Amino acid sequence: FKAIMQEEMEKEKEDLSLYQDVWVFAEQRESKVMPVVYELLGEGRKLAEKRQSKLCALLCGYQMSHQVEDLIAHGADVVYVADHEELRTYTTDGYSKVFHEAIKKYKPEIVLLGATHIGRDLGPSIAVKSSTGLTADCTSLEIDPEDGKLRQTRPAFGGNLMATIICPDTRPQMSTVRPGVMDKALYDPEREGEVIRLDVSFQPDEIRTKVLKTVKSLAKQVSLSDADIIVAGGMGIGNKEGFKLLEELAEKLGGTVAASRACVDAGWIEHQYQVGQTGTTVKPTLYFAFGISGAIQHIAGMKDSDYIIAVNKNQDAPIFEVADYGIVGDLYQVIPGLLDEIERI
Ligand code: FAD
Repeated sequence: FKAIMQEEMEKEKEDLSLYQDVWVFAEQRESKVMPVVYELLGEGRKLAEKRQSKLCALLCGYQMSHQVEDLIAHGADVVYVADHEELRTYTTDGYSKVFHEAIKKYKPEIVLLGATHIGRDLGPSIAVKSSTGLTADCTSLEIDPEDGKLRQTRPAFGGNLMATIICPDTRPQMSTVRPGVMDKALYDPEREGEVIRLDVSFQPDEIRTKVLKTVKSLAKQVSLSDADIIVAGGMGIGNKEGFKLLEELAEKLGGTVAASRACVDAGWIEHQYQVGQTGTTVKPTLYFAFGISGAIQHIAGMKDSDYIIAVNKNQDAPIFEVADYGIVGDLYQVIPGLLDEIERI
């Protein structure tokens, strides 16, 4: 507590113009960089251009050098590498110490993390250590053309309003960013960048948690934000069993099932499958909406899909306003027809 108070007092005297560059946390699991990192690099590039600063990535892990070139090819001008056996798997103590020390030394102006389980844990921990603010779960980031400050927008009050937040007097300005919302960075294998290796050392027992073993869940993994084909159902499905038909279609297409919030509220399917403002934001190539009316909160989470195909009994359903292809009809007639057609091909 004393250390935090001292840092707060030092911060008060600090010259904010010393803080430059946009940093992205290059989250990895089992030595593989997470998809959200490429979205952060895409968004970070836009912010760095507006601030006329560098885009940097911070990579924490153990023997991760193979990922450095990939980060540079996706737009990082500088990759800071923290390489230590204790960083092989994520711990709040280990990662927040390394990140905080790097912030103190290199003074980034903006720090972006994915709003993943790790990002949601790490972000607040670094923000407290650095005596600065954090806006969680952002869906839009802009630089104010007048004062150059980061305007961070996120749903608030259960999605009933969008709040735009600024971090007035402290740096860095920190945000966790919702996966699946920002455009991915372009890949250019010819890009060149700088690599800076950080000094990393830990005192014995400084990291208070030890990962002894990772046990993978046997349950089906749902990764809606990365899915290329999504077969989503709404209340028009009629009951919980209706999802079996959607699962059959999703399996045939190599896709993933999803749902509207009303189905989640009805207890037909778990929350991790929910698309929308208070669920996951998705951007697949193909999005099927079966028996979904197209409420604004649902559309907010899927409108950027490449192709939207809607099936609804009601020809005036708002979902048809965003659909590329629409079928006015009963999903219980349309889906079996589709399955037969796929079988025939
Ligand atoms: P309904 O609106 O009941 O629509 C069912 C549709 O199925 C109708 O259009 C009907 O014509 C059609 N239908 C019926 N039978 C058939 C059939 N046999 N064949 C074909 N079509 C048929 N919703 C989300 O989805 N995601 C969110 O993240 C989300 N967040 C919210 C946050 C807030 C703060 C609030 C207030 C609401 C939120 N909602 C969200 C809820 C949202 O407003 C809608 O209530 C919900 O999306 C409706 O779900 P639905 O389309 O499945 O159901």
